Amino acid sequence: MSRVLVYVEHDGEAIRKGSRQALGVAASIGGAQVEALVIGKGAAGVAAKLGAYGVTKVHAVEYDGAYATGVWTGAAQSAAGDGDCLILASHTSFARDFAPRLGARLSCPQVSDIVELSGDLGGIEVKRPIFAGKAFETLKSEAGRLIVTLRPNAFAEPEAGGGGAPEINEIAVPEVPAALQTTVIEVLKPDTEEIDLTEADVIVSGGIGVGGPEGFDTLRPLQKTLGAALGSSRAAVLAGWISPDHQVGQTGKTVSPQLYIACGISGAIQHRAGMSSSKCIVAINKDPQAPIFEIADYGIVADLFKVVPAFNEAIAKIKAS
Ligand SMILES: Cc1cc2nc3c(=O)[nH]c(=O)nc-3n(C[C@H](O)[C@H](O)[C@H](O)COP(=O)(O)OP(=O)(O)OC[C@H]3O[C@@H](n4cnc5c(N)ncnc54)[C@H](O)[C@@H]3O)c2cc1C
Repeated sequence: MSRVLVYVEHDGEAIRKGSRQALGVAASIGGAQVEALVIGKGAAGVAAKLGAYGVTKVHAVEYDGAYATGVWTGAAQSAAGDGDCLILASHTSFARDFAPRLGARLSCPQVSDIVELSGDLGGIEVKRPIFAGKAFETLKSEAGRLIVTLRPNAFAEPEAGGGGAPEINEIAVPEVPAALQTTVIEVLKPDTEEIDLTEADVIVSGGIGVGGPEGFDTLRPLQKTLGAALGSSRAAVLAGWISPDHQVGQTGKTVSPQLYIACGISGAIQHRAGMSSSKCIVAINKDPQAPIFEIADYGIVADLFKVVPAFNEAIAKIKAS
């Protein structure tokens, strides 16, 4: 194969960080012709920016509606065409939904949530966590067509610059057979302007150890000082202390920040499944036997209500000096 097709997610103007990382991976594959697929409102404007990432051709679908499985799968199928192709996408909610369906339509392998990719277009090797992050598996594909989703933040972001204007191939909004149609009834936006957990470089996360909804107020000054996103365990979500969009783990979000600070989180396997690929893990827990210490780079056995404010004060001082 000689083509790499990257699905580029955007907000109508800016390209999402995970998609920029996927473009960087595509550009690192020697000899590949990099193409992109852009769907949604503002697709043409986003398409024009992609030359800076080494993209030579963009398949653009101008579409006003909310995410729809059939539209995204159909558009990706058109962009992939009949020939050999490596298809890359960031492992977002959209890609989790359409990538396996695309694999079925193209009759090709699909590998989700990878953290490493190597090889060339003659044979791609990928590594991904399995058994909720307890082990890794390495897979090699020599198939002519392959679809891979990349864990956000597991790959470096490329420098954008240079590159000519890409060729634009406008694709009509695909017709979706009635039997396959899904309808979006409502889109629930997060109620705050907080940093997206999956794209954050730093996450301050709280669990049952914070003691109640007001316990998260102890974490917020540190979150602010570090310019971090706020995460939580599922137990804190189920207790109603924080909204579900903060949940990290197997049934929450998968994150790979540079720094993950777990405060009052025991480190159950389902929580670790969502954060164990963080580059540096700091755990603050009263219990020295807490499983989170097994994966922590730095462990503090102490009361979080004493440590977190002191930690925040020290960092604020360093930042101010
Ligand atoms: C199918 C399934 C899916 C799941 N998905 C997820 C998921 O996506 N994400 C997730 O997080 N969980 C998930 N869980 C739940 C998971 O098993 C645990 O129950 C949960 O992660 C525990 O949350 P916690 O660490 O906040 O609470 P606990 O396990 O109760 O731990 C609280 C910790 O706080 C410490 N602590 C208490 N007070 C303080 C203090 N003052 N200072 C410092 N430390 C203190 C304690 O020592 C303890 O270690 C799932 C479970 C199942 C069965």
